[in-house]
Amino acid sequence: MRTIEQLTRPNIRGLKPYSSARDEYKGREASVFLDANENPYSPSYNRYPDPLQHRLKERLSRMKGVDPGQLFLGNGSDEAIDLLFRAFCQPAVDNVVAIDPTYGMYQVCADINDVAYRKVLLDADFQFRADDLLAAADEHTKLIFLCSPNNPTGNDLRREEIDRLLDKFDGLVVLDEAYIDFSGQPSYTGQLRQYPNLVVLQTFSKAWGSAAIRLGMAFASPEIIAVFNKIKYPYNINQLTQEQALRLLDEPEKIQNWVSVLNKERGQLMERFAALPFTERVFPSDANFFLVRVSDAGAIYNYLVGQGIIVRNRHSVSLCGNCLRITIGTSEENNILLETLKRFTMY
Ligand code: PMP
Repeated sequence: MRTIEQLTRPNIRGLKPYSSARDEYKGREASVFLDANENPYSPSYNRYPDPLQHRLKERLSRMKGVDPGQLFLGNGSDEAIDLLFRAFCQPAVDNVVAIDPTYGMYQVCADINDVAYRKVLLDADFQFRADDLLAAADEHTKLIFLCSPNNPTGNDLRREEIDRLLDKFDGLVVLDEAYIDFSGQPSYTGQLRQYPNLVVLQTFSKAWGSAAIRLGMAFASPEIIAVFNKIKYPYNINQLTQEQALRLLDEPEKIQNWVSVLNKERGQLMERFAALPFTERVFPSDANFFLVRVSDAGAIYNYLVGQGIIVRNRHSVSLCGNCLRITIGTSEENNILLETLKRFTMY
């Protein structure tokens, strides 16, 4: 593998990061804070938050079985995705490789950063072969993006192929596990020590029911995490978010319960979808959504919008012709969707 130093953009390697007031004050006892040009009034939210979120990382890392130094927190996992490009990919020179179809932000971030985005089509089972991704890579490939369970296809990627890619690729393998809590597969966070080129992404937006607080996690070697910390906004995770995340961590049973309810609902909804006359194929899912091929995705999507129900039309996405992506809602919401779709058959 190339070293993290070799993979890092030269300007980032040499960067002297911004040092905030709260970075320099290392937590010794103090009661008078006149260092950060804050307003002393309006207690609770008048102070800048902890730039490195020590308390939250302490709790999270214990729960996830990693060291706090292996954890980066971002304004959604989208922040970590963007930082990967800004830290490692030289605009107009470097490239990244990704499975196709997958989550759209990898390509958007590549385009924003002027980094070539090389797509490798999944097979008919929505699986990839490590050798195909490696064949698409060259000496300017810094990152390879995988997403498991994958969005929008919903399936876990095969572990033998993920392992092979981690073994063979000499750059960073980014494994997006936004939906891992809904999957029967264990997280790759357990493999961080074995693979120094692994970056695992997770988020509070899905199983944790907290898309609004914007909190994403990246797990990687302390060396990679140090690069993220060097270039992130100084106070990227606001105080309200840190507090709410700590509250959530006090009730992990609640999240477990949501996951089991949603997974049960998923099974039922998929079965009922399979019985609809316009359904051609319901694809297996390991996430809190599933992909379904229908006779006319555009017509059904528009019909649902007219009834106040929004699903995701993935017709224009590779391998997803005439496919809708359905997020699992509450049992009541799922019933409304089904009953509404049954009426569509009468048109
Ligand atoms: N990764 C995947 C695969 C996603 O589907 C999404 C959101 N749809 C994200 C990352 C972004 O998550 P966040 O809300 O943490 O930015």
